[in-house]
Amino acid sequence: MLVGSSLPFHFLMYFAMTQQYRITLLPGDGIGPEIIPVAVAAIETVGKQFDFACSFETALIGGAAIDATGSPLPDETLTICKQSDAVMLAAIGGYKWDNLPREQRPETGLLGLRAGLELFANLRPATILPQLIDASTLKREVVEGVDIMVVRELTGGVYFGQPKGIFTTETGEQRGVNTMAYTTSEIDRIARVAYETAQKRGGKLCSVDKANVLDVSQLWRDRVTALNADYGDVELSHLYVDNAAMQLIRAPKQFDTIVTGNLFGDILSDAAAMLTGSIGMLPSASLGADGPGVYEPVHGSAPDIAGQDKANPLAQVLSAAMMLRYALNQPAAASKIEAAVMTVLDRGFRTGDIMSEGQTLVGCKAMSDALLEALEA
Ligand code: NAD
Repeated sequence: MLVGSSLPFHFLMYFAMTQQYRITLLPGDGIGPEIIPVAVAAIETVGKQFDFACSFETALIGGAAIDATGSPLPDETLTICKQSDAVMLAAIGGYKWDNLPREQRPETGLLGLRAGLELFANLRPATILPQLIDASTLKREVVEGVDIMVVRELTGGVYFGQPKGIFTTETGEQRGVNTMAYTTSEIDRIARVAYETAQKRGGKLCSVDKANVLDVSQLWRDRVTALNADYGDVELSHLYVDNAAMQLIRAPKQFDTIVTGNLFGDILSDAAAMLTGSIGMLPSASLGADGPGVYEPVHGSAPDIAGQDKANPLAQVLSAAMMLRYALNQPAAASKIEAAVMTVLDRGFRTGDIMSEGQTLVGCKAMSDALLEALEA
């Protein structure tokens, strides 16, 4: 029997036109299982409003995966991720798994996911929200209006270069070695992501390196400069990493988009994040050449508050908004979610991590309710 044949025509049209996406959910550990459902509820709400639907499949990663399977990244998880349009990850790790050998640690699962999906570009926005300006440790006039995107190379550089290891020299001394190396193709692909990101933002790109000392940085600078010919509308500048660190703290508003290698990006993106003073508010995206990207909050699994309804779900929710914008091409739905986050903050709702005098302290569930109410309005 054709069930559909008895449905009204406009109902059939609705299903015919509704865009469908497959999303893999990786709640991981700690507060992960508390904050992922908030983001899912937000996506489902805007999906109805903007005429798309997501099917969600949950898979194991991190400590939860170790407990269930013995591996921090079971093969099945990677397979499910590869088959999806995008992956939404919360966070991995916790005290329970801290003393396991490195290959069995939750962090190894995260690195395996990045490598398995070939995620070479990490996008981390650091935006000062007007409602939370006093959460920053820097002066209001320094941080007001800050809106930076750090584009970090994620799969090359000194974290992966060979040779690496601790070796014994001829004199019997130990010698620790890591190798910072980049090929032109590795530089070009991250530079292009950064140029395209800058084009969608303020049109300014600052490339950060250490070309005054490191040969690998000189190649980096040469390639980024050469590619500027393809992106004439982007204003390119260069900074040495030590100066970039100083400038980020001294005058962060001068930056629009920053592109840098793995090590420098690791450090500078955390410094940029701290300008905002609120780790529970920061989303990120990790992207590959093709295939699904991973969208996740910057913060960790917060084991100290896990299971207590104290987690701030908004970084996860804003990661979902990034996913809608970058992976699913639903910018209006993304903007709707971002506006709803502003609304709940305007109404004074605060979880403990962003609480200040005169505001209303809420838990994860109440924050979720307030967000959904704002989305429905
Ligand atoms: P963390 O980000 O988990 O926590 C730092 C502090 O911020 C804690 O006091 C925590 O309660 C608070 N915090 C973090 N997120 C919050 C949120 N959404 N709402 C309210 N408060 C929040 O960093 P950590 O304590 O250094 O690490 C804890 C675990 O997380 C470790 O096992 C670490 O390896 C792991 N970790 C994972 C990731 C990831 O999955 N990408 C990133 C960083 C740390």
